[in-house]
Amino acid sequence: MKACLLRATALVETNPLEFADVGNPQPGPGEVLARVKVCGVCRTDLHVIEGELPPRKSPVIPGHQIVGVIEKLGTGAKRFPVGKRVGIPWLHATDRTCEFCRSGAENLCDNPAFTGYTADGGYAQYAVAPEDFVFAIPDSFADDQAAPLLCAGIIGFRCLRLSGIQRGGKLAFYGFGSAAHVAIQVARHWGAEVYACTRGAKHQQLARELGAVWAGEAAEEPPAKLDAAIIFAPAGELVPPALRALKKGGTLVLGGIHMSPIPQFDYELLYQERSIRSVANNTRRDGEDFLRIAAEIPIRTRVALYPLPEANRALNDLKADRVNGSAVLDCSA
Ligand SMILES: [Zn+2]
Ligand SMILES: [Zn+2]
Repeated sequence: MKACLLRATALVETNPLEFADVGNPQPGPGEVLARVKVCGVCRTDLHVIEGELPPRKSPVIPGHQIVGVIEKLGTGAKRFPVGKRVGIPWLHATDRTCEFCRSGAENLCDNPAFTGYTADGGYAQYAVAPEDFVFAIPDSFADDQAAPLLCAGIIGFRCLRLSGIQRGGKLAFYGFGSAAHVAIQVARHWGAEVYACTRGAKHQQLARELGAVWAGEAAEEPPAKLDAAIIFAPAGELVPPALRALKKGGTLVLGGIHMSPIPQFDYELLYQERSIRSVANNTRRDGEDFLRIAAEIPIRTRVALYPLPEANRALNDLKADRVNGSAVLDCSA
């Protein structure tokens, strides 16, 4: 099959992914083999490719927002039939036995596998995954529309849950890319008032189109005090201004897997029972709940499609903030 291989971490400006012929993966016991139709591009892919996350497999095929059709079942796999469309997300597998798995926090598993990082992902024509960790995708979503739901959507949903935002509450997003453009639709469905703090007129415009009551620059102070804020941008310098924007008792959620250092700030920004928490990965429950709600709302994603061989271009566009919404690779050719 054709795939985009990362042999060594490097800046995406050097176009490090090699479009190559590799052997087709085979499904092991309990796994499914999917013919990949599309794969969403996530900021985490940038962190994997540029080495901000330490390399775990080399070479590796990135990509963890995979929409594909099951073509072959491994021994014992029986959850889905051949021909079923499924989504393969970031959480590839867990050990199912550690204290976190046993307590319902499998997103914090001590021995997890991650798609497109510790296991090969979806910048390819085929991908395998354990059947227990793939999702059925609601029929109402076209393939390209569904791809950004699988990480941007699910992680954004977990951020919203952990933010504790309530109907009528005021919520800000810092950074308005793939995750925020989905999360705003859920937040508005829940009756929250959304503020968008993001660099770039195009992203601010998209936020307004999707119902933000206000959109301004990344570190600009929103015109109202907030019940909660979510930082999607990987920029630690946004933590102090986001704390400053919170009401007493407000919650700041950090949605990224990687963030630049957080600068020192005065305790008064945190005092009055404000809290900061990070979000790590997702549980299968998050994914199932989110996909159901996404179909009910229904969520509409904005996608920019790139042919699979042009993955490097998609990554450069993402890094340079040139993608409005989500970049998605067409792997079907
Ligand atoms: Zn575990
Ligand atoms: Zn992701």
